[in-house]
Amino acid sequence: AAPAEKVPARSPPVMPPFEHRPRPYAGWSGDEILAKRKQFLGSSVFYYYQKPLNIVEGKMQYLYDENGKRYLDCFGGIVTVSCGHCHPDIVNAVVEQTKLLQHTTTIYLNQPIVEFAEALASKMPGNLKVVYFVNSGTEANELAMLMARLYSGNLNMIALRNAYHGGSAGTIGLTGLQTWKYPIPQGEIHHVMNPDPYRGTFGSDAVAYAKEVEEQINYGTSGRVAGFIAETFQGVGGAVELAPGYLKLAYDTVRKAGGVCIADEVQSGFGRTGSHYWGFQTQDVIPDIVTMAKGIGNGLPLGAVVTTPEIANVLAQKIQFNTFGGNPVCSVGGLAVLKVLDKEKRQAHCADVGSHLVNRLKELQQKHEIIGDVRGRGLMLGVELVTDRKEKTPAKAETNLLFEKLKDLNILVGKGGLHGNVFRIKPPMCFTRDDADYLVDAMDYAMSGL
Ligand code: PLP
Repeated sequence: AAPAEKVPARSPPVMPPFEHRPRPYAGWSGDEILAKRKQFLGSSVFYYYQKPLNIVEGKMQYLYDENGKRYLDCFGGIVTVSCGHCHPDIVNAVVEQTKLLQHTTTIYLNQPIVEFAEALASKMPGNLKVVYFVNSGTEANELAMLMARLYSGNLNMIALRNAYHGGSAGTIGLTGLQTWKYPIPQGEIHHVMNPDPYRGTFGSDAVAYAKEVEEQINYGTSGRVAGFIAETFQGVGGAVELAPGYLKLAYDTVRKAGGVCIADEVQSGFGRTGSHYWGFQTQDVIPDIVTMAKGIGNGLPLGAVVTTPEIANVLAQKIQFNTFGGNPVCSVGGLAVLKVLDKEKRQAHCADVGSHLVNRLKELQQKHEIIGDVRGRGLMLGVELVTDRKEKTPAKAETNLLFEKLKDLNILVGKGGLHGNVFRIKPPMCFTRDDADYLVDAMDYAMSGL
């Protein structure tokens, strides 16, 4: 049962002003949409909020519902809207390309796809220079796993518990969270302990976790593996930043066993962590394959795999083909995203706003016992709620209640983690210090009412 609610004595905080007038909405009501959705749309049970929101318009870090109510979007369409909702530069690029040529496939030459591939490759360190475009994170990870297996001549993949890598047959196998598991064959995938500093068995001891990778290879495989995949900042798993130093040790171990190292940057790339452009750089490693999606297109259906010429070569012996991957409209959109992120200095902005937000969240943690952990970097943050700090008992009912209360205070955050007790704060990267202050004040207000 949900905990009893108190009403805080003071008045609620006020959302920062924002110059945008949403269009009058004349479409179906939320109730009508919900009724039809239940009837016609698959997976219709999966929506946020007791009364699902009917979101009809977006502008930068704000969303508007059918009544014109403005919400501060702290989740960016699940960490996808990197530059901001309907960012004008991206909208213009997409509209112009749509008028000119909507689609060809890679069987013909066309400038945007190559121009975008070159721009993306220029953002990669080391020898990561060959780009494959796909349509989603799932497809990117599926292709990465294929590359690893072909390149190594081995099938064994190592993945982390608590990871999310996608919803296809292969990537469900890589995923290490019960919610997403289906009873389908998931052969040759071995899940190792999660180097989670807050909940993991060995705390922040990267050496101990990496030792377990070695043990898994020694006892669970013939001693040779195809590859290792990890998000540096687990997203769906609850904004978990891997123990410092872990990836370096794990990569060494995996490479000794003949495997290639895959970084899943679907959520953590493009400067969101503030300190670096890619999440893996926070652990000072260079992967052999990098997968990305979500923020790459600011909402356009786009994903990519970037790898070395040597690994790419294994696919050159057969045809690797994707009808929509690198579609010209998505390519100009993706190119516009890269330009906006540079032009608007979004990485530095994430570092600035993120450190301010983390400091304020840590202050809030001093005040409210329910906050067990504040973690992350830049605008890739998690706040884990517990009923008992020592036992780390997940505060599930309280999280749900606060989630609804924040929505009533015009704030949309994400939820995640195995127990659904982590607020995921990963807004569009144009999120400001004032927005951060409003979020913290609203959390304080809502928590004071518990
Ligand atoms: N990898 C990570 C880290 C993700 O967070 C997700 C989606 O949430 C995926 C892969 C799958 O991406 P998509 O939903 O675009 O298939």
